[in-house]
Amino acid sequence: PMFSVADIRRTFLDFFAQRGHTVVPSSPLVPANDPTLMFTNSGMVQFKDVFLGTDKRPYVRAASVQACLRAGGKHNDLENVGYTARHHTFFEMLGNWSFGDYFKRESLKWAWELLTDVFRLPPDRLWATVYHEDDEAYDIWTKEIGLPPERVVRIGDNKGGKYQSDNFWMMADTGPCGPCSEIFYDHGPEVPGGPPGSPDADGDRYIEIWNNVFMQFDMQPDGSVRPLPAPCVDTGMGLERIAAILQGVHSNYEIDLFQALIRAAARETGATDLNSPSLRVIADHIRATAFLVADGVIPSNEGRGYVQRRIIRRAIRHGYKLGRKAPFFHKLVPDLVAQMGEAYPHLAANAQRVMDVLRAEEERFYETLEHGMAILDAALAGGQTTLPGDVAFKLHDTYGFPLDLTNDVCRERGVAVDVAGFESAMQQQREQARAAGKFKMDRVLDYAGPDNRFVGYEHLQAQAKVV
Ligand code: ATP
Ligand code: MG
Ligand code: MG
Ligand code: MG
Repeated sequence: PMFSVADIRRTFLDFFAQRGHTVVPSSPLVPANDPTLMFTNSGMVQFKDVFLGTDKRPYVRAASVQACLRAGGKHNDLENVGYTARHHTFFEMLGNWSFGDYFKRESLKWAWELLTDVFRLPPDRLWATVYHEDDEAYDIWTKEIGLPPERVVRIGDNKGGKYQSDNFWMMADTGPCGPCSEIFYDHGPEVPGGPPGSPDADGDRYIEIWNNVFMQFDMQPDGSVRPLPAPCVDTGMGLERIAAILQGVHSNYEIDLFQALIRAAARETGATDLNSPSLRVIADHIRATAFLVADGVIPSNEGRGYVQRRIIRRAIRHGYKLGRKAPFFHKLVPDLVAQMGEAYPHLAANAQRVMDVLRAEEERFYETLEHGMAILDAALAGGQTTLPGDVAFKLHDTYGFPLDLTNDVCRERGVAVDVAGFESAMQQQREQARAAGKFKMDRVLDYAGPDNRFVGYEHLQAQAKVV
């Protein structure tokens, strides 16, 4: 391919370095001292306090390639993996920032210049969105950059409330936020999906590649906003998404890096169909879980460690589905290091430990996986459309099946999970444990709504027994 992921990283950083930006290294996946955020979900996380004005840096322009994780917390894409061409749990975000220096005009013009002059994307394939009230950004796109008005879409508060918009970006429920302008690429009529703002915008034809956030506010816990000390710019472009375009493919999973991981996953599972969604899930999850271990997150039954456990077990279940009845997942680590160890030396340095941690978790889960799957299969054998909550709870409690894993299996079979029933079984056990004077445990519990769609997270003070 003309642009490997390594070429793209370098080209991006050089472009912004030439425009006065200080290149800053990726920060860890676990944010430092920030209880509002489970994982680093974007490039701006390490600059949060700079936006808020409580931290100062010796530069006012920065650029980075940031390792991000979107599983758990406000931005969660775990349920999208295996289903869309564009979502990962772990991904790399190319970003540039202005801390009270340049604002909308420079940000949008440089984005356009990089995409069309340097990466040579055909301008007639590009679309932009702006926050509905943002006339300034709209005019920059239409009058200064020259994007035809029919390809600049205003998006309002489309997520059910003031500032609940695709074009109002928030790091978490509180903290830095502001209106944004997103750039989309049209992969062409052979891919299903509609343009931004249309009813079928969720398809993979028009893919969002780059978000330019105009950071202006600090969101308060009560939903009101306070102005930041100075307007800032925060941008993020998904490396895998721009790589797909530059390598002439329609899916992130077809880029050089992912194809290598998918072939490795096929080798270890014995799968022969390289287009299997399970291989994509495994390829995605080895990145997330290996980088998490390298950043110090060990599988456990609470908080970040429980998210780590859920991702590992989900990957193992997909290997099991492909016919693999013994630990395989950890064997992908050398393949991952071959792809990403140069860009992320701490991954290469920790490779052995990563393998050991993943293998231990695999051995543990393989002890109960087969039995648990038999129970699940039996519960669904009569052609039910809903899995009873007490079965989901038994799988969770006795067989170590996180709810989202059970939900993932059920979703493949078009079956819903009775989440309310699961919760009441959980609650009942909690009360029994409390009566018996057992200890406290803080669990991150995943939720699936009645239509079997993931809807959010809840922290539970569960007095439950540890399996
Ligand atoms: P989408 O609407 O496609 O879910 P987003 O609006 O949630 O993306 P942003 O929060 O704006 O994404 O993040 C900035 C950029 O990071 C996106 O424009 C996209 O290129 C990339 N990106 C976001 N989420 C993912 C993901 N799960 N996997 C890969 N790249 C992503
Ligand atoms: Mg998203
Ligand atoms: Mg979006
Ligand atoms: Mg976006």
